[in-house]
Amino acid sequence: MTTETQAAAAAGPAFPRFDGADVWVTLTNEEKAEIGAIAIELVVTRRLWQRVHEDGLSDIIQRAAGVALQLLPHLLDQAVSDVLPDGALEAEDGITPRVPSLLGGICRDCGCTQEDACPGGCGWAGEDQCTACAAENAPTPGRIEL
Ligand SMILES: [Zn+2]
Ligand SMILES: [Zn+2]
Repeated sequence: MTTETQAAAAAGPAFPRFDGADVWVTLTNEEKAEIGAIAIELVVTRRLWQRVHEDGLSDIIQRAAGVALQLLPHLLDQAVSDVLPDGALEAEDGITPRVPSLLGGICRDCGCTQEDACPGGCGWAGEDQCTACAAENAPTPGRIEL
């Protein structure tokens, strides 16, 4: 997909977003330190796991790396869950789930994204609709034509 309209698409009205940066600025230095350290070690663990396979490292390091690969995401989940405000995962209605903002634009008609284009490729036809869906011309009731 094209990138120039990605920011505009991310602001689209179809999917309420969860912006991790909004939560991050409310954290204490201790909370930031804990989450940051786990996040960095998680990336390091994935690199280690990659090396285990690419370089054929020993069964001993593979065993330890395998456990780390299970543990680190769990630790990150726990540390983040501890600081998430109540109701942060849903929109104002308390029901509609929020979608991570880092995903970028999402087509309201098919759910395709920057990382998951439609078969044959697509771009952004509008704020929150991809060119493949726009070409099918399936209008949504009440939608404003761009
Ligand atoms: Zn689409
Ligand atoms: Zn698409």
